Amino acid sequence: MRNPHAGRPIPPEVTDQEIAAALEDLSVPALLMACVHLVETEDQRRAILDGPLRPQGLFLNEYQGYMSPEDQSAARAFALEVITAWRERGCPEPEPLPTSLLHEMMAWLACDVVGDEYVPMVLEELALDGADSRAPAPMAGASAYPVVVIGCGMSGLLAAIRLQEAGFPFVVVEKNAGPGGTWLENRYPGARVDVGSHFYSYSFEPADHWTEFFSRQPELQAYFERVADERGIREHVRFGVEATAATYDDEQGTWTVTLDDGTDLVGRAVVCAVGQLNRPFVPDVPGEFAGPAFHTARWPDDVDLTGKDVVMVGAGATGFQVAPAIADQVRSLTVLQRTAQWMFPNPGYHDAVGPGVGWAIRHLPFYGRWFRFLTLWPGTDTGLAAAKVDPAWEPQQQSVSEVNEMVRLMFTEWITSQITVDGDADPDLVAKVVPPYPPTAKRTLQDNGSWLRTLTRDNVELVRAGVSRLEADAVVDSDGVRHPADIVVWATGFRANDFLVPMTVTGRGGLDLHEHWGARPRGHLGITVPGFPSFFMLYGPATNLASGGSIILASECEVAYVLGCLRMLVEAGGGSIEPTVAAYDDYYERTQAEVKTMVWSSPYIGHGYYQDASGEVHGLNPWRLVDYWAWTRDPDPADFEVR
Ligand code: NAP
Repeated sequence: MRNPHAGRPIPPEVTDQEIAAALEDLSVPALLMACVHLVETEDQRRAILDGPLRPQGLFLNEYQGYMSPEDQSAARAFALEVITAWRERGCPEPEPLPTSLLHEMMAWLACDVVGDEYVPMVLEELALDGADSRAPAPMAGASAYPVVVIGCGMSGLLAAIRLQEAGFPFVVVEKNAGPGGTWLENRYPGARVDVGSHFYSYSFEPADHWTEFFSRQPELQAYFERVADERGIREHVRFGVEATAATYDDEQGTWTVTLDDGTDLVGRAVVCAVGQLNRPFVPDVPGEFAGPAFHTARWPDDVDLTGKDVVMVGAGATGFQVAPAIADQVRSLTVLQRTAQWMFPNPGYHDAVGPGVGWAIRHLPFYGRWFRFLTLWPGTDTGLAAAKVDPAWEPQQQSVSEVNEMVRLMFTEWITSQITVDGDADPDLVAKVVPPYPPTAKRTLQDNGSWLRTLTRDNVELVRAGVSRLEADAVVDSDGVRHPADIVVWATGFRANDFLVPMTVTGRGGLDLHEHWGARPRGHLGITVPGFPSFFMLYGPATNLASGGSIILASECEVAYVLGCLRMLVEAGGGSIEPTVAAYDDYYERTQAEVKTMVWSSPYIGHGYYQDASGEVHGLNPWRLVDYWAWTRDPDPADFEVR
C-alpha cells in the first residue's frame, strides 16, 4: 500500500501551469524539502541541501523562512522542474530517506541545530514512513475490559479512536449534542484557534482541507464531527447526557459512571476527558441586569447585536477575538479589561489557505509533513527559555530574565508600532495597552493588529477596570463609572483550577478525589492518581501548555500512555492498575518545584487563571515537550501496581 504521505499521483490532465499556480500558495522551504524526496540521486539531494536557495531564519508562523522574493521564485521554478520530471517518471513513491538525512532536513528548515533527542519525537509526529506508530496494536484480552470515556471533545474522541484500535469495548458519554467539546461550545463571534491548524490537528489525519491557517470555530467543529464519523466513533457516544459521578466498586473492580438521565454505565476503566477550560466563570457581582447577559461559551444563536450598546467584561484570549468580530455591528462596545494582555506578532493570523496547499498535501510527497514541521517546530520548547525565571535578574516586575526581557522589548515594539502615528505614540495609550507584567506570564495572544485597530474605532472604548456591580441597564466598573448597556457579555474565562468539577469521583475505599486533592489537583504525569484504579485523566492537572506546542500533541502523548497502562493491565490479566504513591508524589513535587521557577508563578502578574487563589500553579506543564513525550511513550512498570 502506498504511503499516505507520499502523494497521490498527479493526474495527467493537470498542466504545468496549474502546478506552477499551486506552488505560489506554498511554503517554499517545505516545498524544497519535498523536492529532496522527489529527486533521484544523492548529488541532487546535496545540491538542494547545500545550495543557496534556503531559509534565512525561523519564526513562529512565518512560512517562507525570510527568503527573498527572488529566491522564492527561483526555488519554485526549480521545484516545478523536479515535480514535472517526477510526473514523467509516473509519480513513483519516493524511496525512504535515512534518518540522518531526515535529521539534516529538520535542521535545514529550522535554520538551527535540532537536538538528537528530538528526532524520534519529530519522526513519530510526522510519520514520514506512513505508519501511525502511536496507534496501539490490537490487544488480545482487551474485550474483557470495557471502558467508559467521559467527554467527546478533542481528547475524548482521540481516546475513543485508540481504544477502538486496541479492541476495547467502550462507551463515550458527552453532555453536549455533538462531538468537539470546546469547539462546539465556544461559538462566539471571532472564535478561532491560535495554534496553526496544520499542527492543531491529529497527527494521523489528513490536513489538506483547512481553509485558513488558524481555523475558525465552525471549521474546527466540522473537523471533529467528520473524524468522529469517519472513525466510526459516533455510534459509541451517548450525546446529551452528563456524567455526574464515577464510583469505584472495590469488590467488583468496576467503575459505575452515573449519568444525569438517571442511568449508569459500568466499566473496568474510566478515561475522564472533560477538559480544563470547560466550566464558565462569571464573577459574582451584586445587582441585576435586566437585558440579555451571557458568557462567551454560551453565546446565544439568536442574539442580535445590531445597533446595541454592548458591555463586555473581560478580555483575555476570548474577548480579544470577540471585540474585533462585533465592533462593526454594535452601536457601542465598552470593554472592561482589568489587565492588558501581551500579544505575539502574527500578521497572517486571519489568512486564508490558498488552494495550492491542499493540492500539494494530496499530491506532493511529504509536503504536508514538512509543513507540519514548520508549524510545530518554532513552538516546541523554544518558549520555555523565555518563561524561565533567572533569580539574579533585577527587577522582576516587568521581565524575569535576559531572554524574557528581549521578548518584552519585541512585543512592546510590536504593540507600540501599531499605535504610532507620524513617529509618535501617545504615552497614555502606551501605558494603557503595554502590559506591566512579564511577557508569557499569561496566555500570549496571536495578534495581527485587529485588536488595537478595533480599540481606535469611535464606537469602541477600552476601560482599564474590573466590574463592581450591575444595574438594570448598566455595568458599573471598579472605578465606579457607569456604562449603559443593552447587552452584557461575560468574557471572563473558566474555572480552570477546579478540575473535574462538578463531578464526584470516588475511588478505592470511598476516597473522594476532590477531598484527596484539596486545593492541589495532581496526577502522575497529570494522568493517574493512586487510590483511583484504572482511572485516567486527559488534559488533567499540570498538562496545559503555556509555552508553545499543541494540546493535541499533548493529548496524543497522554492517550498513548493510557493505552500503555491498559496494555500492562490486560497482559497481566489484572483487575486494575494504579500508580504508586511514590511515583505520584515524586512527579508532583518535581513538577511544583519546576513550575515555581517559571514566569507563570511570578507574583507580579496580578490576575490570571494560571495561578489559583493562593498564587499556586496547578494546571500547567512546565516540562519540555520532548521530555513529556519520552515519559509518556511507555509507562514505566515500576511506577504502577497491577492488582
Ligand atoms: P481568560 O484568559 O481567563 O480571560 C478572562 C478575562 O476576564 C481577563 O481579561 C480577566 O482579567 C477577566 N476577568 C476575570 N475575572 C474577572 C473579574 N472578576 N472581574 C473583571 N474581569 C475579570 O479567559 P479566556 O479569554 O476565555 O481564555 C481562557 C483560555 O482559553 C485561554 O488562555 C486559551 O487557553 C483558551 N482560548 C483559546 C483561544 C484560541 O485558541 N484562540 C481562544 C479563546 C480561549 P485579568 O486578565 O485581569 O485576570
